[in-house]
Amino acid sequence: MTAFLLDIDGTTLLGPEALPGAAAFIEALRDRGIRHLWMTNNTSLSRESWRRRLEDAGIAARAEEIYTAGDATIDFLCGLDPAPRVHLLGTDDLASDFRAGGIELADGDADALVLGYDLGLTYEKIRKAAFLLQRGVPFYATHPDVTCPSPDGPIPDVGSFLAMFEVACGRRATVIGKPSAAMVDGALQRLGCSRDDLVVVGDRLATDIRMGNDAGITSYLVLTGVTTQADLDAAPEQPTRTFASLADVATIF
Ligand SMILES: [Mg+2]
Repeated sequence: MTAFLLDIDGTTLLGPEALPGAAAFIEALRDRGIRHLWMTNNTSLSRESWRRRLEDAGIAARAEEIYTAGDATIDFLCGLDPAPRVHLLGTDDLASDFRAGGIELADGDADALVLGYDLGLTYEKIRKAAFLLQRGVPFYATHPDVTCPSPDGPIPDVGSFLAMFEVACGRRATVIGKPSAAMVDGALQRLGCSRDDLVVVGDRLATDIRMGNDAGITSYLVLTGVTTQADLDAAPEQPTRTFASLADVATIF
């Protein structure tokens, strides 16, 4: 039985609005008893905030149906023995997910530094993080995206700050979100299905489609987000299939 791993931005939603056909696609999945999990590299919002954002766009969702790169990072940290006390650069939403996931947050005197999408990043926070990195604490990042789309154009995301810390401190982070295998492993565990049954659907070749290809999972590209047909024609990373939108994916089952 197939299960879908669905990207949010550019696949299910565009900004605050549902993409045409997305709500009907989710209803079709539910009607047929086909499981799905939304996944996103945007760690500025908690699963509950993403649930509300989907609901506001007219798509009913449960928090358990959402898996963020922050959740994958929590799973990864909980798998370490002992789980580290974490100095977190992130939003209040991300911090609350970390605490709920059993991660102890510590200011300064921590065993690990985690860089999330911190919309309140200040020079003071950067300075403290640099001191921790100079002390040699393990360094993790929730996702690799260099920029995040915004209505006014792309804005700096975690990958840009990773470049800054690498230049300033000579340290590189272990990066958890898409396209890493940690994201796929966590999704498989939550969906309770095998790799052969999983189909990843997303709009970005470098994250969604690369993750699918690296993990040996069927991948569907939708052209409702950042990738155009011209981009696809020129790219070395190719999906299993390409669709105009989720509405077209719904026509094959
Ligand atoms: Mg996307």
